[in-house]
Amino acid sequence: MRKPFLAGNWKMNLDRRSALDLARAVRDGVGSRSDREVALCPPFVYLDEIARTLAASPVRLGAQNMCDEASGAFTGEVSGAMLCDVGCELVILGHSERRHIYGETDELVASKLVHALDLGLEVILCVGELLEERAAERTEEVVRRQTSVALRGLGASEMEHITLAYEPVWAIGTGQVATPEQAGDVHDYLRGVLAGLLGEAVSEAVRIQYGGSVKPDNVSGLMVMPGIDGALVGGASLEASSFLSLINFEN
Ligand code: PEP
Repeated sequence: MRKPFLAGNWKMNLDRRSALDLARAVRDGVGSRSDREVALCPPFVYLDEIARTLAASPVRLGAQNMCDEASGAFTGEVSGAMLCDVGCELVILGHSERRHIYGETDELVASKLVHALDLGLEVILCVGELLEERAAERTEEVVRRQTSVALRGLGASEMEHITLAYEPVWAIGTGQVATPEQAGDVHDYLRGVLAGLLGEAVSEAVRIQYGGSVKPDNVSGLMVMPGIDGALVGGASLEASSFLSLINFEN
């Protein structure tokens, strides 16, 4: 049984005061609920303080990115060890905004992923196709390539620390959510890719989140699909009431 996993990606939003207020409100709203896993991924500069806010809560703390190098002359970068140091347990890697705005390649994402796992961080690995790739019927090819390059050389034990997030790029921040069938088809396809790479047992155990314009009014329809195990949420995670209603989705 895969526990639903809802993660909020705050991106480059909020100021310090509203970030802390939001973290507190999510912490209090989640309480001790344990049948859903919840994570918050604030901007780097707020991680330290939010780690303290979440200290006695089951809500987990993640970062939105990290450097693939351990330390040194990498101006503007943040290392995985620094994330661990401030209390982060997980990190989002391969988000489409990193891939398409900052030119991160599949190989760079793979290198970051290995480094994160070595440090004991859990990873949310994002994959997803552009609109033109979907129109050209290349969705499966794209998500297969992104997944297999990132997971190359990993085994069952590493996969226990990885969640996949299927995020069609055309659905992120656009209000144009994938239909449950569109998302469900790609999730099933990805599970087949995982089975081919790592075997049936691993593929059944790995959680695959959906991300892309998930809102309180569409979450239940998505989560009812058997292959969808939670959501990676941008816009709707910026307000406590909407993120809490996503966390408390009914199916
Ligand atoms: C995201 O950034 O991962 C995302 C899914 O954003 P939104 O929910 O705003 O589409």
